[in-house]
Formats: sequence, structure tokens, C-alpha cells
Amino acid sequence: MRFQNYITENINTKGITNNDILYIYKPIKKYIDSIYKPFKNKDYGLLYKNIDKILSIKKKIRTKDKQEIIILGVIDSKELKSNVCKKSHNIKPIKIYVGFPSRSVSYQAIFDYIVVGIPIKVLERIKSIENREYIEDDNINDKIITVVSPMYIQQTITHELSHWMDDALHNKHYTKRDKLWMKKNFDKQYDPLHMYKKTKWEESKTEIEALISEIELYRRTLTKDEWNIMTLDDLLINLKGMNSFSIIDNTNTRKMILKRLHREKLLGKNMR
Ligand SMILES: [Zn+2]
Repeated sequence: MRFQNYITENINTKGITNNDILYIYKPIKKYIDSIYKPFKNKDYGLLYKNIDKILSIKKKIRTKDKQEIIILGVIDSKELKSNVCKKSHNIKPIKIYVGFPSRSVSYQAIFDYIVVGIPIKVLERIKSIENREYIEDDNINDKIITVVSPMYIQQTITHELSHWMDDALHNKHYTKRDKLWMKKNFDKQYDPLHMYKKTKWEESKTEIEALISEIELYRRTLTKDEWNIMTLDDLLINLKGMNSFSIIDNTNTRKMILKRLHREKLLGKNMR
């Protein structure tokens, strides 16, 4: 497919301001805290109570592609203030749904929306862990806690925004690609991850692009010295972003990341 030829590196992900990320995060903030804090303190009684509260929220929407979302906020892309978001909005306006989706967080290019938050299945998975020995296994626990942490949710917001901007600012290559896919697969449900059945997602330029945005966001939380001490492994482990668990052992992906970090002047001294 020719879409691979669209070079995605010109995107200035640094252009998304913290303010825009926090503006999108705001409607879900207190709910994330209500899960993350008791989980971290091992107060499982409170944790389960708070998850039940979320699952009983009545306010839901159904998207054009029939996804159900427990909805906390709907943001129009015109409300975002960063220049790069304004530019993207002029070309491809979208809605940003904030809440708890029945599928996964994603950028749905042909339905003009992003959904961010925590997928309901993650909440149900936490709830289904009744065996205390299991939940008190710190390794497993850490992984689950990570995906409900404020930093992770903010990283996923950055990640999905960067897919949208990549699409808007580069000739709508996602939208075109997905429309073509829909034509051939009209009997199937639209799955924005369809192309990863051929290419490994962790080796796709578009995913690397989104990951670089996550890394850039994470970089903002550290000092220069902290950054320069880190190896690439440290970065990927600490980042705990959407994809970092599975890319650590992929040599191709590592090379692509290093190249992109270098180009963005984000490469720490110890990462080569
Ligand atoms: Zn992605």
C-alpha cells in the first residue's frame, strides 16, 4: 500500500501543550484517582466500590460505529488551543469522547472521533480478580496499576491525538486507508488496527510516531540529568506506555525509535 510512503516524521508532536492534554484529562480525573489511589494503597474494598460506582453511571452514548461509551465529557477539536491541534482541526475536525468505552481507546479515522479513558473490560478484569494471592503479586499488580494511572491515561491521550494529527496533516492517509479497507470488508466491524494483521504494529511508522509523542510527554516530567542517565531499556520500562512492554525485545523497533529520538533531539546520552 502506498500509504507507507507518507513520511510521518515532520509532525511536531512537541506542539501539543500540556494544557490541551490536561483539558481532555479533566473530565475523567476524579474517576482515575478513585481507582488508582485505593489500588496503590491495596484498599481493595474501596477499589471495588469505586469501580462499581463507575459501572453504574447511566450516562452513555452510542457512536456512529455502534460503540457504547460511559461518557464523562465530549470535547470538540475546535476547543483545543495548541497550534498543531488548531491546524489539524481545520483539516479534520473530530470529537473527543472521554470516558469508559466498550472497546478500546482509539482514533477512529473514518468516524471522526477519538475515544480515551479506560476500557470497561479493564475495569471488569480488575473486579474479577478475587484471589487475593494473585492481586497481591506485585509484578502483576504493577502492570494493572500502570494502565489505570494518571500518567498512562495522559500518555494514551497524547498517543491518540498524535494519530489524529498525523492523519490530518499528512493528506488524511489513515482516513483513506481505512475507507478502502471498509469497502473490501463491508461485512466486518471497523477495526482501526486492521492493518496490523500484515505489518507488526510495533514496526509500523504510525505507531512509532505516536510512541514518540508519549516519550516526549514523559520527557517533560524529568530533569535533563535524569534523562541523560537513562538507557533505552530504562526509558521503555519507565514509560510503561501503551506499547512499551512488547517492544523492548524488538530490534527493528528499537532502531526506529532511536532514529526518531535523534531527529527530535530527544536522545538521552545513555540511550544509544
Ligand atoms: Zn496507536
